[in-house]
Amino acid sequence: MALFRDYVVHTPEEIERIRVAMQMTVQVRDQLVELVRPGMSTLQIDTLAGDLIRATGGTSGFLNYHGFPGNICISLNDEVVHGIGSPHRIVQECDIVSVDIGVMYNNAVGDSAITFGFGELPAETKRLLKATQEALMAGIAAAVKGNYIRDISRAVEKRAMADHLGIVREMVGHGVGIRLHEPPDVPNYVTPVRGPKLVPGMVLAIEPMLNLGSNRIKQDSDGWTIRTKDGSLSAHFEHSILITDNKPEILTWPKTM
Ligand code: MG
Ligand code: MG
Repeated sequence: MALFRDYVVHTPEEIERIRVAMQMTVQVRDQLVELVRPGMSTLQIDTLAGDLIRATGGTSGFLNYHGFPGNICISLNDEVVHGIGSPHRIVQECDIVSVDIGVMYNNAVGDSAITFGFGELPAETKRLLKATQEALMAGIAAAVKGNYIRDISRAVEKRAMADHLGIVREMVGHGVGIRLHEPPDVPNYVTPVRGPKLVPGMVLAIEPMLNLGSNRIKQDSDGWTIRTKDGSLSAHFEHSILITDNKPEILTWPKTM
């Protein structure tokens, strides 16, 4: 099993650069949440994201990554992750929209995702969004020096299970910072091995992907879009965090500068 083969500890100089790329990612993410409206196509959203990324001075960390054709990932409703902007996909009032963004700048990269809707959402949708966000925050709370990767996984899983949500297993969180995906993996479920011990300087993207229905997923014929097999709604929240001597620093939290 390739899980937990390795991990990366970043130098203080690298961490400074990573902080900047992460805050650029935050800017784009939070502007998009304000600007995305029903009636827009997902390609319009992707183009807008490209403009916002350029305005930060950075570039997309996703574009051309393993051949990915978009600036960001845009996944609606039953799409879990890796959705590609399309002129034929129009956001509807009742949709939930997940955007996953990574801005690259000065040889560092950010990674953050958020799922949101418009107006008053059905109770089940609100429950999914709340639980997924809380699962992320529970995982972050467990990301302290001396704990192991599995402690993060356990905290995420416990919160997801409390709402009987399907935990996507095929895709996991990961190390991040200089490259978009660095070791170790950060699963959203408890694994047989505990993984590396958390040490200051590790930067981890924690990203629960939770479904209202079963955890089973399938891939579209575009080779990218992942959706739930049963058509149930899926939510995705992601923060990148730095392990410190004290509480984890959420690098993708908006800073008041
Ligand atoms: Mg991401
Ligand atoms: Mg990620």
